[in-house]
Amino acid sequence: MRMKSCPRCEASIDDAARFCVECGAPQTEDAAAELDDRVRRRAEQVVAESGTGDGSEDGAARTAETGPSDRERLWRRGCYVVGYGTVVVALTRIASPGAWVLLLGGVAILPPVRRLTARPLGSPFKREVMAGIYGVSLLVGVALLALL
Ligand SMILES: [Zn+2]
Repeated sequence: MRMKSCPRCEASIDDAARFCVECGAPQTEDAAAELDDRVRRRAEQVVAESGTGDGSEDGAARTAETGPSDRERLWRRGCYVVGYGTVVVALTRIASPGAWVLLLGGVAILPPVRRLTARPLGSPFKREVMAGIYGVSLLVGVALLALL
């Protein structure tokens, strides 16, 4: 059989192959369309899940069965309240550099931000890490607001 090389990874693959066996890159218009379709469906699924997902390490599996636990829900609600509260306070003092640090902390503790960290890192930051970022931002922000 004739061989060709994958345009993405340059692996040697069957000329008739629709996808690269090494990197999975589509090799025909048809295969590309099929992949697009699959990616879009997966994205829609993720969006549908994110309404109820809690972003924790085992959240996806648990959500599918019973939904997030009460503690998890409480934590999420607390994060939203504290995060938005901090952002609102920061916005009223936005002229001060301290407000920007507060703003950062307030945004960092919002649950969707934690979920975003899962993308480049494989698994989301632990809640403790986000709470730590928030705590440090709060201290620094308040200190700056008080000093300047
Ligand atoms: Zn390839």
